[in-house]
Amino acid sequence: MKFWYLDHSAVAVQTDRHLLLFDLFGDVLNPQEGEGLDQGKVLPQQIAQEDVLVFVSHEHQDHFDPKVFALDSLPRVRFVLPEELDVLYEKGIFAANNQTITLADATITTFESTDIGLGYLVEIDGKLIYHAGDLNWWHWQGEEDEFNLDQEKRYLQQMQYLKKAVGDRAIDLAFVPVDPRLEEDCLRGICAFSQAVKADKIVPIHFWGDFSVCQKVKQAPQAAAFADHVVTLHRRGESFIL
Ligand SMILES: [Zn+2]
Repeated sequence: MKFWYLDHSAVAVQTDRHLLLFDLFGDVLNPQEGEGLDQGKVLPQQIAQEDVLVFVSHEHQDHFDPKVFALDSLPRVRFVLPEELDVLYEKGIFAANNQTITLADATITTFESTDIGLGYLVEIDGKLIYHAGDLNWWHWQGEEDEFNLDQEKRYLQQMQYLKKAVGDRAIDLAFVPVDPRLEEDCLRGICAFSQAVKADKIVPIHFWGDFSVCQKVKQAPQAAAFADHVVTLHRRGESFIL
């Protein structure tokens, strides 16, 4: 298995027989000549031979751009979308919260975001891959206690659902938000995730280009139990073979 970090929460994952693309947006969908996954861009010609699954977690502009539907021209492509996006695209595989969708070649389980949209757990080609979208413990400094407590409750509940869906297995590759805007509370989500489930590789996402968050996670005392599993990212287009 191989993955590319494209930008923010946009990633590409190559399994034995598929290419999974998550939360493509903005510049990721504007390749210049000669650019492709190694530059953090999706160039349709580069992936035309692949069996592609495009996942959209929700419609916020740091996760989605309607331009993604230009990939519809690929020979083998399916889009997995939250059901409310059926107004934008007719041929999608539409998912609701906390639902399991069984395809011939993949099983997709969804989780309800604490913001909007879905997180995805995908079982495909013998691998288990998690992409949180905006499902995170959004504990904001200065927010009302009521808001932050509600975040805690809803996030921990989804982590229990995730634990149930994963069972005894370890997730092979997990993409989890670590948003520096949350300041010292930015690790709450990834810590609670790691308490709920085991993951071989945990990749921070949703950090607005601040790659230093990866080192921060690895060095944080509260992350010591899973720090060895955290992937340190340095640039857009960086890839890792697992
Ligand atoms: Zn977001």
